[in-house]
Amino acid sequence: MSLPIVALVGRPNVGKSTIFNRIIKSRVAIVEDEPGVTRDRIYSKAEWMGHEFILIDTGGITLDSGEIDEQIKAQAEIAIDEADVIVMLGDVTNHLTSMDETIAKMLYRTKKPVILAVNKADNPEQRNDIYDFYSLGFGDPIPVSGSHGTGVGDLLDTIVAQFGDKANQHEDDAIRFSVIGRPNVGKSSLVNAILGEQRVIVADMEGTTRDAIDTSFNHNGQKYTIVDTAGIRRRGKVYEKTEKYSVLRAVSAIENSDITLLVLDASTGIREQDKHVAGYAHDAGRGVIIVVNKWDLPEKDSSSMKDFEDTIRREFQYLDYAPIIFVSAKTGKRVPDILNLVDKVYHNQNRRIQSSVLNDLLLEATRITPTPLVNGKRLRIYYMTQVATNPPTFIVFVNDPELLHFSYKRFLINQLRQNFDFTGTPIKILARKRK
Ligand code: GDP
Ligand code: GDP
Repeated sequence: MSLPIVALVGRPNVGKSTIFNRIIKSRVAIVEDEPGVTRDRIYSKAEWMGHEFILIDTGGITLDSGEIDEQIKAQAEIAIDEADVIVMLGDVTNHLTSMDETIAKMLYRTKKPVILAVNKADNPEQRNDIYDFYSLGFGDPIPVSGSHGTGVGDLLDTIVAQFGDKANQHEDDAIRFSVIGRPNVGKSSLVNAILGEQRVIVADMEGTTRDAIDTSFNHNGQKYTIVDTAGIRRRGKVYEKTEKYSVLRAVSAIENSDITLLVLDASTGIREQDKHVAGYAHDAGRGVIIVVNKWDLPEKDSSSMKDFEDTIRREFQYLDYAPIIFVSAKTGKRVPDILNLVDKVYHNQNRRIQSSVLNDLLLEATRITPTPLVNGKRLRIYYMTQVATNPPTFIVFVNDPELLHFSYKRFLINQLRQNFDFTGTPIKILARKRK
């Protein structure tokens, strides 16, 4: 699986964030009720007619300093570098401006599809007023109204029509993992240490339009792909150091991998930014391994590892399923164990449990902890079955889905974890009304 990236560009106030919010509105948040998960308003997963993609509002990525022109230049560059499809937005109430022309000129340099939409076309007269935008040379402008939602469906149809067969790009049997974390925790060093003796077989994935580099190698008969090693290397763009950009990089790497190695730095401890990155890893529903790097640095005694582990568990409560490994990219200590852990988590993500076994477990679980009474009505669970892997997803058939609250779901997930090895992978439980 590989999610296409769609970027919205346009001068300030044309309505990028309004359109962004319209498009992502239908998104079903999996973990909304869990604490600690941060959400950034400028990237989101979106879906239209069965096509999933990542949407970026480039207007939300601003440099720490710089004139408006520079900001917009950087935003257009991000779209050109990162996106698979670019949507340039204009504003019919202001007609075509010289700043629109400047943006268009930058976009001419890309071979990527550019879709032109003209916003604030709130009524039929305004929808007829978009013709001066033809002169930008991006074909038929699509009139939209972020306020009313009109035209947004047409825009989405046009966007998803550009995706092609990108979705089938990774149909090999490699285990795909990404290495993420805030700057300087040692991501590049770790990638180099993991690759160490491996013979890299693919350094540049063919067919990727954006400049992401995936690195593949074989180890003990298994193929692995480290996703987006380009994002790990520094490329020296002006926008490279903005936090939002690095989060975008991390989000797309996570979405395109089976497993994420969340790297922490033992010498600095846990910082706020680590939590943001962790929230994204959890949110994506992929496997997560917490890698504490630079374990050569701290003064240690017999309880150091346990203490650090306790801190991690306290700070990242929602990642309670993620195994923790203490390594040093510098000395190589325990680096070889990382791939073993990746194998194990991959195996767990793809684990399937027979329905008969699940229902024995359900019987036992409801005996230990009876289902709750909610407003005088008792939750009844009739049957449980696994419907998907990666992440393992279970459906419970109940009398009323509203009665299955977070805490009882949590209890069922814990029962599953106690009985089967799901280390490293989130588990999803969905409730359906029994017909
Ligand atoms: P951005 O700077 O490009 O992200 O623009 P915003 O989404 O913040 O919108 C700028 C202003 O335009 C806000 O006051 C919006 O309410 C307004 N706006 C956005 N979309 C529409 C629209 O379709 N019609 C009208 N009339 N106003 C809109
Ligand atoms: P990135 O920004 O996350 O890719 O981090 P780098 O791999 O560039 O590493 C940042 C700094 O930490 C560099 O100076 C590395 O040499 C150093 N570093 C990385 N891993 C280790 C480690 O395991 N131990 C020690 N002592 N230093 C490390």
